[in-house]
Amino acid sequence: MNTIDKNHIWHPYSAMNSDLPVYEVESANGVRLKLKDGRELIDGMSSWWCMIHGYNQPEMNKALEQQVKKMSHVMFGGLTHEPAIELTKKLIEITPALLQKVFYSDSGSVAVEVAMKMAIQYWHAKKQPEKQRFISLRSAYHGDTFAAMSVSDPDTGMHSLFKDIIPHQIFIEQPASRFGESCNKNELNELEQILKNHSDEISALILEPIVQGAGGMWFYSADYLRKAKELCEKFNVLLIFDEIATGFGRTGKLFACEHAGVSPDIMCIGKALTGGYLTLAATLTTEKISNTIDNGNPGIFMHGPTFMANPLACTAALTSIKLLLESNWQEKINRIQRQLEQELKICNTFDAVKEVRVLGAIGVVEMKKPVNMKNITEDFVAAGVWVRPFGKLIYLMPPFIINANDLKILTTAIVEIIKKYSY
Ligand SMILES: *Cc1c(COP(=O)(O)O)cnc(C)c1O
Repeated sequence: MNTIDKNHIWHPYSAMNSDLPVYEVESANGVRLKLKDGRELIDGMSSWWCMIHGYNQPEMNKALEQQVKKMSHVMFGGLTHEPAIELTKKLIEITPALLQKVFYSDSGSVAVEVAMKMAIQYWHAKKQPEKQRFISLRSAYHGDTFAAMSVSDPDTGMHSLFKDIIPHQIFIEQPASRFGESCNKNELNELEQILKNHSDEISALILEPIVQGAGGMWFYSADYLRKAKELCEKFNVLLIFDEIATGFGRTGKLFACEHAGVSPDIMCIGKALTGGYLTLAATLTTEKISNTIDNGNPGIFMHGPTFMANPLACTAALTSIKLLLESNWQEKINRIQRQLEQELKICNTFDAVKEVRVLGAIGVVEMKKPVNMKNITEDFVAAGVWVRPFGKLIYLMPPFIINANDLKILTTAIVEIIKKYSY
């Protein structure tokens, strides 16, 4: 292990004195990561949902090389450029029709902050400034900055640690009904009660549609989204969809909200937006909300990142979206889904496994107990795959370009390693 890394660099959610292994990657190509020691690993994570076309993709490389020569960056205050214009044209075409206004930022967490600010400024402009709180779901994950953290699960987000500085939001149970089912009659009672009693202080309901990602990899009923939307309209509360993980095909639809046919008032995208090449996120909203904010006080939207709409990132996003739309992505996702279902289902017969669930290009094996990260990571690397579980969850979300043989290597590694632990 590299000593500079070991002694001086923090990794995500890690301790400086951690004994967990960290592997140095030298290069990456297609679905394979090449380690410095020469070993190759098949990437089952798409580098956290992002690398949908795989690494070192020729068209992506070419588009970025051309853009570097034109302009890598330029400030966005008072200036604009073709990559931002073309990307915006594309985004308003492929997202729900009412979403017409786009705010670019550098990461998913910031896109969520921006969404929350939009909701608050909207109500402020509507002369209802008390509407500042948010409703969120248990097991939600919306990012690591303070406002985003305030709407992420209180236990896994350690709200107790930050209790005096993060805003206190209202949490409701995660949806119980599964994807493909309709909701139970009483499932939205808690939401309805809270809206009934507190809608004068609530700005918006924020949800990850269909798939709760980093908070538990939970797939839930599309019906829930339709009913939640009705309740939000009835009680005058905005609806924010965080599609940062689910966007760009992962669940089998281009955006997960399409499973429910529900259009949010505000939507966040990120992660796979640039095909994983660069960091970029966006918050989209309706004409109604942007007009209202414009007509309020101070008459501007209060946010503006230094690297807003970075031209390289916008070029990566535009190229990635074109590649996705031109590929037969639905067929690819269906094939991945079928294979994950077939090859992971045997895990259901293992004692240590609670359940296997698959949706689109996401395959999850939920264990009864948390896994030992050190052992399991070393086992996966020894098996030639990159799989990074968290808690009780071992899961795959491979690049969409993965072929059946490589996917089989990933699922076999999971099956064999779980088998080893389940005596
Ligand atoms: C990853 C993620 C975020 C945060 O994005 P970052 O780019 O890590 O800040 C927010 N919401 C969801 C649903 C995510 O999966």
